[in-house]
Amino acid sequence: MSTELFQFAPGREGYYGEFGGAFVPEILHETLAELRAAFDDARDDPAFWREYVDVMVTYSCRPTPVTYCENLTRLLGGARIYVKREDLNHTGAHKVNNVMGQGLLVRRMGKRRVIAETGAGQHGVATATMAARLGLACTIYMGEDDIARQRPNVFWMEQLGADVVAVTDGTRTLKDAINACLRDWAESMADTHYVLGTVCGPHPFPRMVTYFQSIIGQEARAQMLRITGALPRRVYACVGGGSNASGIFAGFLDDASVELVGVEAGGKGVDTEQHAARLAGGRGCPGVAQGYKSVFLQNREGLMHDTCSVAAGLDYIGVGPILAHLHAQGRVRFEAATDAEVVEALRLVIRREGLMPALESAHAFVTALKEAPHLSGADAILVNQSGRADKDIFTVAEALGDERWKRFLREKAAR
Ligand SMILES: *Cc1c(COP(=O)(O)O)cnc(C)c1O
Repeated sequence: MSTELFQFAPGREGYYGEFGGAFVPEILHETLAELRAAFDDARDDPAFWREYVDVMVTYSCRPTPVTYCENLTRLLGGARIYVKREDLNHTGAHKVNNVMGQGLLVRRMGKRRVIAETGAGQHGVATATMAARLGLACTIYMGEDDIARQRPNVFWMEQLGADVVAVTDGTRTLKDAINACLRDWAESMADTHYVLGTVCGPHPFPRMVTYFQSIIGQEARAQMLRITGALPRRVYACVGGGSNASGIFAGFLDDASVELVGVEAGGKGVDTEQHAARLAGGRGCPGVAQGYKSVFLQNREGLMHDTCSVAAGLDYIGVGPILAHLHAQGRVRFEAATDAEVVEALRLVIRREGLMPALESAHAFVTALKEAPHLSGADAILVNQSGRADKDIFTVAEALGDERWKRFLREKAAR
């Protein structure tokens, strides 16, 4: 596998069209420069990518398979539906691709401690796993309210040796955890690396995280050629910050015949205030926040809106600057899926294929399943199943209105 496939060489350093950049306090400039140098050096060293692939093969089930959905294809008619199985990764989602990559880079830089912030806890578990494996000290910042909601993830982070810090400022959720994490970094950067979880934040994070996640697209392109003898007509991925989408799209960006479709959280509907569709609904505005320029859900004074989604991983005000640029260029089409559609798609995919996509991934299925019947049997489409649904058991039981399970789970949780 070649690192030459990496597609996103920025023009102005760290910019993709008008988006990107690094808007951080002076004190962090040197640390980001050091990170850029270490990343550039690693990227130029073919042995680094080989080491990364070797770790992913021996530790996280890579290459993840592509599964043909025969039953759904027959049910819907039209395009043949294929699924890239990122749910089979260690820790249950694509996040580990990025986290292990950054871990190897940290080791190269000679730092001994990693920090991260987490909302639903998935990125925290992946980071704590990496730290245990690579022998690094690890601190995870998490809002106090999120800790209460995500007990099992907190338990595993602690078993993995991470120090989980409850953040009691502000709304006691992700945004406050991000601030606490940045404060830590400003004081500890000499021996500490901040493991950012998606393709957002200041340069070089969007580029670096896309680089590691591009392993999804590189594998998927070769697998589709091998299995179907041709490239897929369309590739679908859900978009929170945008890392699983950027990763699978990276494999197909140069193939003009392949349409790339990103699916955002439509929440209660894009015509309500309760969604996280920054690009699909045309509701987002260009702005600068959390270290980078992109499209955010904010008002004209720059005040951020509250977002809403049944999927915690998509519930975010911003989107990766590379995706904002690809949207502006018309290379990636953006759609939104509502919570109600997501639950329906999830039910269908579980019953018909025995697949259990995470609520985030089910967003990509919504748009794919809607569009498949309008294509021909000669077309193949590919859906990125970014993660598995285990973590969503409470939410799904609630959404499907399963009273018996709801009661059982609530009693368990209360104990
Ligand atoms: C975190 C998460 C996402 C959202 O993150 P991206 O950076 O947009 O990929 C999507 N799917 C799953 C399963 C996740 O855990």
